[in-house]
Parts: sequence; C-alpha cells; structure tokens
Amino acid sequence: MMYVVFLGAPGAGKGTQAAVVAEKIKLEHVASGDLFRQALEKGTELGKQVKSYMEKGMLVPDEITIRMVLDKISKMDSQTGIILDGFPRTLKQAEELDKALAGQSRGIDKAVYIKVGEKELLKRLSGRWICRNCQAPYHIIDSPPKVKGKCDACGGELYQRADDTLETARKRLEVYFTQTAPLIDYYQKTGKLLEINGEGKIDEISRRIVTALKAGRS
Ligand code: AMP
Repeated sequence: MMYVVFLGAPGAGKGTQAAVVAEKIKLEHVASGDLFRQALEKGTELGKQVKSYMEKGMLVPDEITIRMVLDKISKMDSQTGIILDGFPRTLKQAEELDKALAGQSRGIDKAVYIKVGEKELLKRLSGRWICRNCQAPYHIIDSPPKVKGKCDACGGELYQRADDTLETARKRLEVYFTQTAPLIDYYQKTGKLLEINGEGKIDEISRRIVTALKAGRS
C-alpha cells in the first residue's frame, strides 16, 4: 500500500504524469481538479459552490476541498495505493491529509515534485487543449492533434479549459507560488520529496518518476 502525492505548478504535467505513472505501477489516480470538474458538469450542489473559484483560477476553500478528497479516499478500497494529483495544495490540506491517514495508521510515502520553469509553464498553459471525452491533453504548438479540434486517441472534441486562458493562467501560477509552493518544503523536511525534472518528452519524464519511486520504495 503506497500513498503518493504529486506536486507541481499548473502546467507542470502533473495530471498527465499522474495518470501514466498510476497505470504503470498500478496505483489508483485521484485528481481533485477532475472531481471538481465532474461536479460542475453534473450541476451538483458542490459544483455550484466551486464554480466561481475555478473560473477565476482561485483555490476552492480548504474546508470544501478537504471534505471532498478525504471522503473520496475513504470510499476507495485500493489494494495497491493511491496517487493524489492536485491535492494537497495548501499547508492546511497537507496537515489534514496527514491526520486522516495517521488515523488509519498510514501516511504519505512520497511526494513527487515535478519541476518546470515559469516561462515554460505559461507557454504550456495558454496553449493547452483537452479532449472532452477522454481528457487527453494537446498543445497547439508542442503536441497538436493530427486533425484540428479532434482527439487522436478517441476522436472526441477538443476544448480549452475556461481557466487556461493567459490571464487566468497567470492568476493560477500566482496562487501556486504563494499557497502551494510551501508544500515543497513541508515534504522535504520529512524526507519524502522526490524532485523530478519536468521538462522533456512525456515518456522520459514518466520514466524518471517511476525510477525515483522505485528507488525510494526500498
Ligand atoms: P487542476 O485541474 O488540478 O488544475 O484544478 C483546477 C481547479 O480546481 C483549480 O484551479 C482550483 O480552483 C480547483 N482545485 C483543484 N484542486 C484543489 C485543491 N487541492 N485545493 C483547492 N482548489 C483546488
């Protein structure tokens, strides 16, 4: 049983890598942003509560986020473990997660920090398009789809997330640097941090992460 958190700025490739690595080492993948987007699409009460924060690129309040993620984890009966992608994003969330896991005599094993320079992050975020059907990410310059507006993998329609415009991308980066970046220190102090160079090809980066996780496991 292994609990891993993925840290990194918006655009660092957290979501992509968390999905690939989860598949490779057979862990469940839980993405807080996906849970919020599903609630928004379904128009649930939670969706209504979080809409304005997400559109502005702000963090959803801790109380709502912590309840949603801890509830989700407690209902999963994974045999192998979980990758948490996009959570925790504040110190409060990290502390509450530690407390909840400690209550089950568990803890976070590793924090994978995917490091990408700020200029590269802005470029990536403002050119990102995502498949409405299977969530595969594309980039208008770096990894365009074969047919404009269509997903290579499933033929689904590509769309730009409302929070991926340049202005919102800037805001999300600012939020990241003030509220989430301190978590790097938090996990470093307990010897759980694995810093991964997040620039390069997707499969190269996945390999770096898997190698680091396997080395850190023994
Ligand atoms: P993401 O897909 O991880 O980039 O998340 C998209 C948006 O969902 C963020 O910009 C926040 O508004 C919200 N969100 C996702 N995870 C969290 C979190 N752990 N804490 C607060 N807000 C979150």
